[in-house]
Amino acid sequence: MNQIIGFIRLQQIDTRLDQVNARLNQINIMLENDQGLKQIIEQKKSFEQKVISSTKNLELSEQAVQNQLIKIQQSEANLYSGKVKNPKELQDLQTEITILKRFLSSLENKLLEAMIEVEEDQKVYELICSKYIDSEHDYTSRNAVFVEERNLYQKELEKLAAEKKAAENSLTSQDLFLYNKLRMKRGGIAVSTISEGACNSCGATLTPAQEQAVKSPDQMIYCPSCGRMLYAS
Ligand SMILES: [Zn+2]
Repeated sequence: MNQIIGFIRLQQIDTRLDQVNARLNQINIMLENDQGLKQIIEQKKSFEQKVISSTKNLELSEQAVQNQLIKIQQSEANLYSGKVKNPKELQDLQTEITILKRFLSSLENKLLEAMIEVEEDQKVYELICSKYIDSEHDYTSRNAVFVEERNLYQKELEKLAAEKKAAENSLTSQDLFLYNKLRMKRGGIAVSTISEGACNSCGATLTPAQEQAVKSPDQMIYCPSCGRMLYAS
């Protein structure tokens, strides 16, 4: 493969790669910004936090009731053990048990509220999950054509990457350096075609001698205006 053919091939591959990547970006932005699914995902995420917090609250309430029951059992065991005989102490124990039981009742009310909250949260969460499934289904059918397009482009990217490697291997590292520098400086186009005696990238007119030279396969001619490598297609 001679040098100019190598450059042309590489430029064709890079141009196609740029097109494919630009389209893939567009598709990805479009898919990511699909509001229908986005909203329900956010709603689901935020409600998951709510369920975690109400479930935690329920656990704490259960633990508090359990602890209170243990305290009452201990005081009652003490009261009926027969070890406490002093009437004043017995009276104090009775009072303590009454207070403990009163507080137990308030803890049990809180537990009941926590249970109701968890139950309601779970109902709402199930509703959100089913909405999410519907929404995901809608999203998939709405965007199927874009997802398919994306898959095709991703396959093409793999193919182009292999072709690019082969094209690069046909050039020296110095050639590649020059090509990449020019491509970067000139908006992705390092190699330009000519038509009717003018550079197709910048429109500069060539002299007949320059045009003739571009048509010769042995010479590398650069556009006198934009500096791109020229070839006659
Ligand atoms: Zn030019």
